[in-house]
Amino acid sequence: MTPPLTPLEFDQRHLWHPYTNVTKPGRTFLVKEAEGVHITLEDGTRLIDAMSSWWCMMHGHRHPVITAAMKAQIDTLPHVMFGGLTHEPSVELGRRLLEITPDSLQRIFYCDSGSVSVEVAMKMAVQYQHAMGQPGRSEFATVRSGYHGDTWKAMSVCDPDTGMHHLFQGALSVQHFVSRPPVAMGQEWCEDPEQNGLGELRRVLEAGQDRIAGFILEPVVQGTGGMYFYHPEYLNQARALCDEFGVLLIFDEIATGFARTGQMFATDFCSVEPDILCLGKGLTGGHISFAVTLTNDRVAEGIGGGNPGIFMHGPTYMANPLACAAACAAIDVLTGQDWRGRIADIAAQMQAELAPARDLPGVRDVRVLGAIGVIEMDHPVSADEAHALAPDTGVFLRPFGHNIYTMPPFISTPEQLSAVTAAMLRLARVL
Ligand SMILES: *Cc1c(COP(=O)(O)O)cnc(C)c1O
Repeated sequence: MTPPLTPLEFDQRHLWHPYTNVTKPGRTFLVKEAEGVHITLEDGTRLIDAMSSWWCMMHGHRHPVITAAMKAQIDTLPHVMFGGLTHEPSVELGRRLLEITPDSLQRIFYCDSGSVSVEVAMKMAVQYQHAMGQPGRSEFATVRSGYHGDTWKAMSVCDPDTGMHHLFQGALSVQHFVSRPPVAMGQEWCEDPEQNGLGELRRVLEAGQDRIAGFILEPVVQGTGGMYFYHPEYLNQARALCDEFGVLLIFDEIATGFARTGQMFATDFCSVEPDILCLGKGLTGGHISFAVTLTNDRVAEGIGGGNPGIFMHGPTYMANPLACAAACAAIDVLTGQDWRGRIADIAAQMQAELAPARDLPGVRDVRVLGAIGVIEMDHPVSADEAHALAPDTGVFLRPFGHNIYTMPPFISTPEQLSAVTAAMLRLARVL
């Protein structure tokens, strides 16, 4: 009889991992537990989770306030369907969201994951246009280098060339792409529409007046599409263009929401508000998958007044009470601290400690915004090779494309953050 497979052998033989070759998966670490900023491996090695587990574990792993809320919830009402029923955790979360999100967004749709919240947002836009007597408006405009998730409609508005989905291009709905906002964050704003990207956006929205339902983009920070930070004035002026051409403005803040950029939402860098807002990732402080799509009364009442009136979406686990309880606790943890001061400290330390990377060969740019630190290389960086160095540096980093980056947990101490920036510099030297 052959001996049973070890956990790592079983994993390698049977389990798919994200964006990984199933037959040649590369190095995979077996995690035993995690607490605070640390992931502990089966052999006792402790690694700092400098990715906040793909940007969601903002307050650290196993945060005592969040786990306590989840434990209490699981003993009373772990789940119940949301059709015809409601519960305290969903209402409590709604109250908290309305306190911190843009004022005009008063209607809340809970869903399972970031990609689904994007699907919901896009569906809302199409159904709204339909209700407004514009059934031809079923396409979307977006900026290049964007990322909005892995489901079909979300994929169609990810960057068509450099995005992770170009392989599927022939199977995706055709959307309208404009250049990524050319004026970077921190650069002086340029009023020339041929230089600031808005001339191109105007032409696309004007030409698509009978076809475009919404303009979707990540405000200020493009995450997966290149960790690029752009000038918020682009969004103020895009808002006016959307209004002029009857297009809904959709902000995907799944990565930027809940203070990651130093503002509670990246929208807060702007003087305008979107019609629809997607939140996910940090919503539960990374403790359970959950997301939300918010919209304003105009869109909600438009859909409600149309035919069929009902909004055509309703996932099984909609408003899952356990996830709502985790999200309430995560928001309390965030708002119960001086988060502005905290993020400003993290930003200042990363600015200082990453600056020397500018002088390294192969480094194209170094940039920091809030608790996001990026070393952009002039060549692609291998995640596998970075993983191999993790036991040595004590820091888990997963570079993507040309970028060695961190989104550290907000609870990182100065010493832990120094370990992260040192590991990033080391990767920039050797990879
Ligand atoms: C991660 C991400 C998504 C997708 O969220 P999932 O929870 O992975 O489905 C969508 N948009 C942005 C901006 C993201 O960063």
